[in-house]
Amino acid sequence: MLTDKLTPNAADNLAPLVVVSGPSGVGKSTIVRAVLDRDPEIWLSVSVTTRSPRPGELNGIDYHFVSDSEFEELIHTGGLLEWASYAGNRYGTPAEPVHQMRSQGRPVLLEIEVQGARAVRSRAEDAYLVFITPPDIETLRHRLAGRGTEDSEVLAERMNIANSELEAAIEFDRVLVNSQVGECSTDLLELISDLKRVT
Ligand code: 5GP
Repeated sequence: MLTDKLTPNAADNLAPLVVVSGPSGVGKSTIVRAVLDRDPEIWLSVSVTTRSPRPGELNGIDYHFVSDSEFEELIHTGGLLEWASYAGNRYGTPAEPVHQMRSQGRPVLLEIEVQGARAVRSRAEDAYLVFITPPDIETLRHRLAGRGTEDSEVLAERMNIANSELEAAIEFDRVLVNSQVGECSTDLLELISDLKRVT
């Protein structure tokens, strides 16, 4: 399966682009952070969003927090590789830094929701799509509720979206079950290093 991704990458000599997706609350950020700690060469894209910052989130580090009109402007000037609406807010991946980092030989990770992952598939055919799934739906509910950052209405909306997002797993190149952060991040690191070998 990995060799399917060989041709377009090899032609442009770009480092791998790996999309990590899955429902909100599944633990994508924790896994991605573990991967970055273990291999600092890997670069995580910083998304733009119209959502308000949560306590502790920093502009330019966790997200670039922008207004609706700034987001529109980015779309119209072709500044986004992909974008999507999610639970009433908009999220997008700035295109230029992704290309720059890949050209410099740094593998790039995008941590995004499912519609965005689909959009990346159609815009960057050499992207490798990884879906993180919870061991079961109750674990996901606990993780989302335990975060304590959303009120009950937003939480219910995120659970609804999560249920439909889980059905998308079949569209991805690889599904990783997040039973254990350590194992899951090791799997992801191995996958990235396999992709580096074939590019
Ligand atoms: P949160 O509001 O919890 O930070 O993110 C909500 C969802 O949006 C998560 O599933 C997260 O992975 C996703 N997300 C974050 N950045 C982007 C992005 O640039 N594009 C897309 N399509 N989704 C994103």
